[in-house]
Amino acid sequence: MIVCRTILEVSRLINKSNRLRQTLGLVPTMGSLHPGHLSLISKALQHNDIVWVTIFVNPTQFNNKEDFNSYPKNLEHDLHLIKKISNKINVFQPSETEIYNGNPFLKKYDFNGLDLELEGRFRVDHYNGVATIVSRLLSLFEPSNAYFGEKDYQQTQIINRLIDLEKIDVNMIICPTVREKNGLALSSRNKLLSIKNKSKSSIIYESLVFLQKSFNKNRNKLNIEKIKLKINSVNDFEIEYLEIVNNKSLQIELEFSDNESYRAFICVNVNGIRLIDNILLN
Ligand code: AMP
Repeated sequence: MIVCRTILEVSRLINKSNRLRQTLGLVPTMGSLHPGHLSLISKALQHNDIVWVTIFVNPTQFNNKEDFNSYPKNLEHDLHLIKKISNKINVFQPSETEIYNGNPFLKKYDFNGLDLELEGRFRVDHYNGVATIVSRLLSLFEPSNAYFGEKDYQQTQIINRLIDLEKIDVNMIICPTVREKNGLALSSRNKLLSIKNKSKSSIIYESLVFLQKSFNKNRNKLNIEKIKLKINSVNDFEIEYLEIVNNKSLQIELEFSDNESYRAFICVNVNGIRLIDNILLN
């Protein structure tokens, strides 16, 4: 396993592999890896000759310093987990200075409003920060395939738009959400939950599945407020949003059309830890 800390080292290795016309799969992460990340890495290994995993907690996508500072980090363990999958995987783990040269900057994009919905309403400029780093990584690695999780579905739509805007030649692969036994979507932030709250967090996925069933039974008789009240009644749990939106535009529609797909998105703040999830309804 090769671990690079500088862009120069990566460029040298990439040039070598390009010359050999090998396919390259890229898996961008913020580390503190769990089986959700590992599922992306395994898929990348199946599809590509070379796999690069990047580990970088990107400061410009955090709009809350406390959240950034408390974001879990465990590089040794991450490398151990990656090695267990295959020792042929390459890792890029740059410093903040390597990426931003001492001046963390944000590029501003026109995402057609995708960035203003759902997470965007609670995290100003979050998606500009995500797109800034993803654009940087895609232009450095020029991967044939890049892997992202459905858990962050809004992020996948933002990256789709970024790829269009910057005319990047990459195949984006969206991988299904990996969950705990109780349905809670795996997330690096879950480590910050108390055991009790982690167990109670099963209500999040249960609510999504309930909404999915109700939607397919009678989509005009959904009682989202009732579900919100139920979640809010759990000690330490506070809903930030629960919405059903068009799967492409991410906008709420006044009426559901049979020709469109819809997705439910949820964010629950559990004692200061934001847990997000989503489910395709039809
Ligand atoms: P992160 O380290 O949180 O930035 O996540 C890196 C990538 O892993 C993103 O594309 C996420 O959507 C994806 N990911 C995170 N959690 C999961 C999960 N539970 N299942 C599948 N993919 C995930």
